[in-house]
Amino acid sequence: MEHRKFKIASDIFRRVLVLGLGASGRAAAKLAVARDFEVSGVDESKKIDTEGLDKVAILADWSPSDSLPECDLIVVSPGIAPGSPLGLSAAASGAPVVGELEFASYFVESPILAVTGTNGKTTTTEMTQFILGDTAVVAGNIGKPLSEVALDEWRGTVVVEASSFQLESVVGFSPIAAALLNTASDHMDRYSDFQAYVSAKFAVFNNIANASNCVLNFLSLDHWGARFGNASAPTTFSAVENAADAFFDGSAVFFKTIPTPPVDLANSRLNTSHNVENFMAAVLLASRILESDALSAGIDTLLRDFRLGAHRQELVAEFDGVRYVNDSKATNPHALFAALDVFGGEGNILLIAGGLDKNMDFSISKRHSKAIRTAFLIGEAASKIGDAWGRIGVDCRFSASFETAVRNAMRSAVEGDVVLLAPGCASMDMFANYKERGDFFRKIMLQTPF
Ligand code: ADP
Repeated sequence: MEHRKFKIASDIFRRVLVLGLGASGRAAAKLAVARDFEVSGVDESKKIDTEGLDKVAILADWSPSDSLPECDLIVVSPGIAPGSPLGLSAAASGAPVVGELEFASYFVESPILAVTGTNGKTTTTEMTQFILGDTAVVAGNIGKPLSEVALDEWRGTVVVEASSFQLESVVGFSPIAAALLNTASDHMDRYSDFQAYVSAKFAVFNNIANASNCVLNFLSLDHWGARFGNASAPTTFSAVENAADAFFDGSAVFFKTIPTPPVDLANSRLNTSHNVENFMAAVLLASRILESDALSAGIDTLLRDFRLGAHRQELVAEFDGVRYVNDSKATNPHALFAALDVFGGEGNILLIAGGLDKNMDFSISKRHSKAIRTAFLIGEAASKIGDAWGRIGVDCRFSASFETAVRNAMRSAVEGDVVLLAPGCASMDMFANYKERGDFFRKIMLQTPF
């Protein structure tokens, strides 16, 4: 299989500076030390976990008035935005700047399959690994930094979840195949406009020589044309568009470009349009590694044993005909609307939404707005969502606290309703992260008399 491999000259880029010493940055620093670079690290925080970093010259408590250590190459952690003080100093330093994922990829010898998109990255990355089984590990945004996989000298396949942040500085990152699941409004606090965000996501395809190894949502074909022209065609998938290379007839998935027989999802827990698409992308990626029989066996295992991750459209409780659903991981409007697609009927949703805005677009379609009987809005974004939705007649109520919103939603529910936590926003105005928000929702469920 054709596989482009990018390498850097370690004698030229001898002094490596790592910016940000969280999990990814620390792993990159250790990798660089293991590969005999001269390594320094900078972090704005005073407290840094220095375990295993004894060969790294660390500058903690960095402030914009400090200069950066001299270096030949800068490796940036994904949490550091290009426009932040550290990001700006790096850009001004004169040394080339690469992301942790990019840097780590220079040292990964095994095949990489990459997954990106606004939503569904973690689910699809896990699905792909599930199909591939023990011969594959997951890495990247999903938890284990790619630098750690490189350090372990893993020889199987690596399924990499890549965020747009990690893809911003892609030059040599060369997966053998990659999937872009969807593009919708998110992280607009980091990008100048939507096009810049989409552009970062499309960088995942930059080094894939064979376009058929680029797996793309059919609805994103316009973006493909604008970026790569129409001479080459990616492999497309869609749960709603039969012209795609992988399509769904409402009960089975059909693959036109690989010899995999139709897969019946009618009775599967994956039978929601967004998970059908995640499934298609995972199968198409795995098909680049596995022969047909092994692929079919992997798909069978997936259908039998795969469970969606915690805090993703999870049914926490059901009582008196009311379902209580925790989708705390819905941190942008696109994921919120996916939850409405799954659970929404005619005004049966008591929605808890709001939180930290990422300068996102909260416009809602008629179809989605009709599903909501009342939206209980919380957090910093509450008034912005209330403005957008109130204008088209959604009943919006503002709650002072998360708990009040949940309790009010529970009190309003009658048989057939769904109390849905799908905030459509990040959690950090009220919680440490989406997990803490989801855990609190679960706790309220079991502590409030029904
Ligand atoms: P990511 O890693 O991209 O954040 P996850 O798999 O963790 O994706 O899912 C995040 C949220 O997006 C959850 O609320 C989930 O229900 C929803 N979701 C998952 N896949 C899709 C998809 N293909 N389209 C829209 N929403 C999705």
